[in-house]
Amino acid sequence: MNQPTQLAANDTPQYEVIIIGAGVGGIYQLYRLAQLGVNVTVLEGAADLGGTWYHNRYPGCRFDSESYTYGFSFSKELLNEWHWKERFSGQPENLRYLNYVTDKFDLRKYMQFNCVVSAAKFDDANDLWRLRLQNGRELTCRFLVTAVGLLSAPTPPRIPGMETFEGPSFHTYYWPQEPVELEGKRVAVVGTGATGVQVIAALSDMVGDLTVFQRRPNWCAPLNNGPISDAEMADIRARYDQIFAKCLTSPGGFEHEPDRRGFYEVSREERLALWDKLYAEPGFGIWLSNFREIFFDETANAEFSEYIANRIRQRVKDPIVAEKLIPKDHGFGVQRVPLETHYYETYNKPHVHLVDIAETPIERITPTGIRTSERDYDFDIIVYATGFDAITGSYDRIDFEGVSGEKLRDKWRDGPITYVGMQIHGFPNLITIAGPQSGSASTNYPRGIEVGVDWATGLLQYAWDHGYTRMEATPEAEQHWSDQVAQMYATVLMRKAKGWFTGYNSNVEGHEAGRIRYFVYNGGSPKFRQTLIDMASEGYKGIEFRRAGSNEQKRRPHSDETLSTQTAG
Ligand SMILES: Cc1cc2nc3c(=O)[nH]c(=O)nc-3n(C[C@H](O)[C@H](O)[C@H](O)COP(=O)(O)OP(=O)(O)OC[C@H]3O[C@@H](n4cnc5c(N)ncnc54)[C@H](O)[C@@H]3O)c2cc1C
Repeated sequence: MNQPTQLAANDTPQYEVIIIGAGVGGIYQLYRLAQLGVNVTVLEGAADLGGTWYHNRYPGCRFDSESYTYGFSFSKELLNEWHWKERFSGQPENLRYLNYVTDKFDLRKYMQFNCVVSAAKFDDANDLWRLRLQNGRELTCRFLVTAVGLLSAPTPPRIPGMETFEGPSFHTYYWPQEPVELEGKRVAVVGTGATGVQVIAALSDMVGDLTVFQRRPNWCAPLNNGPISDAEMADIRARYDQIFAKCLTSPGGFEHEPDRRGFYEVSREERLALWDKLYAEPGFGIWLSNFREIFFDETANAEFSEYIANRIRQRVKDPIVAEKLIPKDHGFGVQRVPLETHYYETYNKPHVHLVDIAETPIERITPTGIRTSERDYDFDIIVYATGFDAITGSYDRIDFEGVSGEKLRDKWRDGPITYVGMQIHGFPNLITIAGPQSGSASTNYPRGIEVGVDWATGLLQYAWDHGYTRMEATPEAEQHWSDQVAQMYATVLMRKAKGWFTGYNSNVEGHEAGRIRYFVYNGGSPKFRQTLIDMASEGYKGIEFRRAGSNEQKRRPHSDETLSTQTAG
């Protein structure tokens, strides 16, 4: 175990790089740095690796991304070895996969578990980060890489009396690892976002009676999951190069690409034909292979939303329940679209009930259940599917202190401001791979994560090659990027939505409706990737570098420079 350190000036840090988080991002960043022989460790707050797929163990938890576009692309050997069993694989298999990758590349030895980072302070005099863990332990590193996740800070609802409930109750993120006795039980689910939609459909076959408390419905579309046979997997393996090449060039990092015909250039019949086809197909095609106008033209969006509303009406037998399940405050696709498996049919089951808490709000949790403005309900178990303090929540939970004592949570109080989503002025030597305003958050995550990690690795290598001990985004570069991200919101209907892409969360103080937070980059993954490639080829334009003991600020290297190589700490 590493001991607390008292550093003298210019002392060397314990680690060259510390990565926080052992999910998809942390694992891939670790792989790249371990390959380079860097003195690196991963600090993970949980008892084991896997991130999202370690924590979320609720019934029904699975990918909305095609499994084979979600997996890592960096190793041909891995791609040839792993057999995805389902087109949209479930949490247990996803966790097995991440463990398999970690063990295959012998990465576990670099990981330290049960290490919740509570504070990180930049030491201006020594160009290094000093980290404090929740248990009081301290560590130091030259460069700090956050892989803390954008959906990893769960938010319970703010309802009085939650602590008084006498039965088991938990947020879906904390679904117990040991089996939960569900048979015959009266279960409540609060929340109908992407998680709610998965857990409600799955639970309905496992419990005695299920009551769903819904405040605002979401537009959902069928996942159309299915098994992947040996023959199909062989075909996928043969096409992996093609598949990943497509993901690199499509806006969302998926195989799904927008229909390039104009919405108004085709007849209503042609539009319906496309929508019928997409509705029957697996995955996000209904969202991402649609006409582009769906995202920015109110009329086009309204016509398509009505198409989906009619699908819901066809699937839900009780017309009153069907109308309650149809969103009225936003159109299809302006928020993240939950994909579902028999979600709407769930409400046709006699033991499943929908309570519209926009009409009859929850007043409190009681020792035996939930009290709305209308009546008391008794339950054995309450499940809170109330989502996450998305994008910036896991950053806010760490007390980051940059130069001159500036706190990151103060800097980002009204929303994040970053350079390419991965650098922050005032916080040198911090790389937020897949961070707010990067290309990861609005796309197929692992594809964006790989782009971010590759860029971060190149940036670190560049610093090592030149003997730099400090790097920091300029305020101008940061402002320019954040302005661009904000401007991209101006054209999309998403800007009007109360969803996590705009920073809305009624359970997080300051994130209630009212102020847009420009959380995600809407320029599409090819443009984001090209920006990073161009920036790297121009000597990481927008980032200032410095060597220890030198006041010389460098924006880019001179060709006649003496290079020093320092890849291992
Ligand atoms: C239910 C669910 C389904 C999803 N489905 C999809 C999908 O189909 N497709 C898709 O692209 N994305 C999906 N996502 C998004 C998903 O989060 C990403 O795909 C991906 O797993 C993110 O990886 P990550 O490594 O960036 O973060 P995470 O997997 O969230 O890992 C972050 C890790 O950092 C750790 N950590 C955070 N703060 C600290 C701290 N202070 N100290 C120490 N450790 C810390 C956490 O414990 C966690 O293990 C889904 C998310 C959820 C919640």
